Amino acid sequence: TFRALLTEKAEDGAVSSTVQAIDEIRLPEGDVTVDVEWAGLNYKDGLCLTGQGGLVRTYPHVAGIDFSGRVRESSDVRYRIGDPVVLTGWRVGETQWGGYAERARVKGDWLVPLPANLSTRDAMVMGTAGLTAMLAINKLEFLGITPSTGEILVTGAAGGVGSIAVALLKRLGYAVAALSGRPQHADMLKTLGAVSVIDRSEFLAQPDKPLESARFAGVVDCVGGDILGKVLRQVAYGGAVASLGNAAGIGLSTNVLPFLLRGVTLAGIDSVMQPFDARVAAWTRLTNVFDFPAYEGNVSEVGLAALPEQAQAILKGEVKGRVLVDPRA
Ligand code: NAP
Repeated sequence: TFRALLTEKAEDGAVSSTVQAIDEIRLPEGDVTVDVEWAGLNYKDGLCLTGQGGLVRTYPHVAGIDFSGRVRESSDVRYRIGDPVVLTGWRVGETQWGGYAERARVKGDWLVPLPANLSTRDAMVMGTAGLTAMLAINKLEFLGITPSTGEILVTGAAGGVGSIAVALLKRLGYAVAALSGRPQHADMLKTLGAVSVIDRSEFLAQPDKPLESARFAGVVDCVGGDILGKVLRQVAYGGAVASLGNAAGIGLSTNVLPFLLRGVTLAGIDSVMQPFDARVAAWTRLTNVFDFPAYEGNVSEVGLAALPEQAQAILKGEVKGRVLVDPRA
């Protein structure tokens, strides 16, 4: 058996999770079995653990949309016992059992071999959050944004994707403005590399105009909703916005003037179905660019039993940086 956080749905619809010993025979089908060393906590994990968003359809379930560890068994020729691997996306942790367990079984196609100098812990310091932040920055660069183009705004900056994006952009030489609803984390954002911190409520309180003063060359947007609508009206000529999250809502109310008069591009970012080559390239770039020791103050560790409480916290926007899950703790 192995330890797992099993998420169950009662007849009255209530969803709850408890640590249980699970028989190996219950693992899903797949060609690679992994001894999970670390899992991550993401906004989506909060939804899966609380039964929201219609992401989990079949119970009992093991959540956890990303994990790292070592290959325990493999019938895939690309993976040998002991190989360090990372998994993000492919709807693992949603439609099939994920990383909140000492063991996971997945398709070899979904795994990425860890870059040589990346530990399994650092892989989950990044996790889906780091991969997505990297993909967003790659997209802005593809759209012609460089450090000399101008300032980049990161929204939802104190969360997982946001804080990693701030740190990565700083390392790549960009001037970063961080938008956050939590003024208590302003110092942390400046330490990570933000030149300025914008208060979310003050930002939203500014009067809305069809076009507002052009300020940002690029935007990494983790929140969507009213904030994305307003941000678009402040993007400078030829600028680009990478939309990757919906922490503030799935709505988007804006107008076409930023596109027509300033040639602004709104680009979508998806990490879940990214092709293998793009994943490998992003993981390699993350490994080379990210300053892991400098970020360590924003990393916390929890065991499986703490996850139900952590799920509530991330949905309320109360998690700072990255929460790592040790399935053996
Ligand atoms: P997270 O750690 O909870 O970060 C989200 C941040 O958004 C919060 O820390 C908070 O930052 C801000 N926020 C929360 N509620 C808000 C609200 N009501 N209005 C405005 N801002 C709010 O979550 P995460 O794991 O980094 O994920 C961030 C977003 O990206 C989520 O929507 C997630 O689903 C999405 N995501 C998408 C992909 C993809 O493939 N496209 C991959 C990963 C994540 P402040 O306190 O600093 O304001």
